[in-house]
Amino acid sequence: MTNSTPLAVEMREITKRFPGVLANDSVDLTINKGEIHALLGENGAGKSTLMNVLAGLYLPEQGHVLVHGNPVRIDSPKTGFDLGIAMVHQHFKLVMNQTVAENIILGLDDPYCAPGEQGRFKPLRLDMQRVQRRIAEVSEQYDLHVDPEAFVWQLSVGEQQRIEILKALYRGADILILDEPTAVLTPQEADALGQTMARMVQEGKTIIFISHKLDEVTRFADRVTVLRQGRVVATEDVTGETSTAHLAELMVGRAVIFRIDKEEQEFGDVCLEVEEICCLNDKRLPALRDVSLQIRRGEILGIAGVAGNGQKELAEVLTGLRRVTSGRFRLLGQEFTNRTPRAIIDAGIAHVPESRIHVGSVGSMNVADNIALKHYRARPGPFLDRERLDKMSTELVDEFNVDTPGITTNAGALSGGNLQKLILARELTTDPKLIIAAHPTQGLDVGATEAVRQRLLEQQASGVAVLLISEDLDELFSLADRVAVLNGGRVMGVVDIGAATREQIGLMMAGEQAA
Ligand code: ADP
Ligand code: MG
Repeated sequence: MTNSTPLAVEMREITKRFPGVLANDSVDLTINKGEIHALLGENGAGKSTLMNVLAGLYLPEQGHVLVHGNPVRIDSPKTGFDLGIAMVHQHFKLVMNQTVAENIILGLDDPYCAPGEQGRFKPLRLDMQRVQRRIAEVSEQYDLHVDPEAFVWQLSVGEQQRIEILKALYRGADILILDEPTAVLTPQEADALGQTMARMVQEGKTIIFISHKLDEVTRFADRVTVLRQGRVVATEDVTGETSTAHLAELMVGRAVIFRIDKEEQEFGDVCLEVEEICCLNDKRLPALRDVSLQIRRGEILGIAGVAGNGQKELAEVLTGLRRVTSGRFRLLGQEFTNRTPRAIIDAGIAHVPESRIHVGSVGSMNVADNIALKHYRARPGPFLDRERLDKMSTELVDEFNVDTPGITTNAGALSGGNLQKLILARELTTDPKLIIAAHPTQGLDVGATEAVRQRLLEQQASGVAVLLISEDLDELFSLADRVAVLNGGRVMGVVDIGAATREQIGLMMAGEQAA
């Protein structure tokens, strides 16, 4: 880097503490104008915190920030935004029961974001057609297609993210922070995001891209800064020579093994039998169409597919959260179609849901109470055995390596990987017959991913059947025994992983029937 490279952002000696945690420890970060700068680090390394400081959500205890060479004090998201900084958070900040267009213009003085007119007038009557035209323009420019009239709650996670990015672009942000944007995307969508980022850079934007996926850092980023335990470990140019192994080592501080060598599995009797299930989605449209599947004991059946093709509804049906309109499913020969979640839990179906935050845990309850959610009925009687519960929680936190200050810490304060380990700890100690794991490693770092996958393999080895919903083909190839591909709510085919190719699965994901 030469002195003449214009800098978009300089963060100097940023220190940010939370009770008991030094989240950022005198961090220096320099972002060149017009680059894609990756921020890499394990869960809890301090990436989101640092970016929340830049976006004005947190004030650091120490350090200062320069934007385009000017010292600034970013004490609110509004200040950040006025400086052209927009952050797309890992957990989106959209209003679920509003439309896409309403979310995009939320809080704007000039809802049309007309160039040169910004802030000049506040219309008396909102011209939604004009808003929609402007949305269409921006989405065309960046190839981010959305239906402005759809309600956010109707959209898949991937689509919601597109809205967040569009919202930032619509408002004319020029420094975009994307917090783990690919964690919720399919490989194809991630590639498309790579192109979107390239286009944003062409248009003069600067991008800070937080990711755990090392290959995406090497493919998309110009430079990378690695954080470990709140400190900067390295800032490097990303070149053709930069290897993922090198980045992984910087990130975790030791060499990392990516592949899990699976042992030959012996399968038992049929555990789960799904017969011609049909159900509707939240829009009352068909979500599953005659889905039939079987999983034997000790088998991992993968479900591949682009988000929004029925995976979510399948998991919901099998956990009693959604009713089928026809068809049935049996667990170890006994029918559980349209039974209550409680009956299904009691029968031995454990659930690692897609949404750790909204479905998997209660953020405002502490670690021990989150574990108790599945165990409070283990003992008869009206009172919780607090002592026993706390002991159990302490043991589980230890056994599953959940990094938390203690069992009285709120679950909402845990990082994604640690929250996922907590959910696994709770679910796996119920002695399940079948585990429904939806995107169990989505958004997790290498270390947490290794841990979660190892747990699932242990369960399989002890004869538990696993339904593994994943958009990560590498994950399916390294864990599943067979893979069923969903498209438009239909099973396009079921293949043995040993004989399957990525191309074959990709084609089925795109809607081609298995040969
Ligand atoms: P990353 O984004 O790299 O996974 P974070 O910046 O979210 O990491 O977290 C860094 C550390 O700060 C972690 O130990 C996390 O538990 C802690 N932390 C983050 N946000 C909060 C908060 N709002 N309150 C308390 N602790 C927090
Ligand atoms: Mg984070």
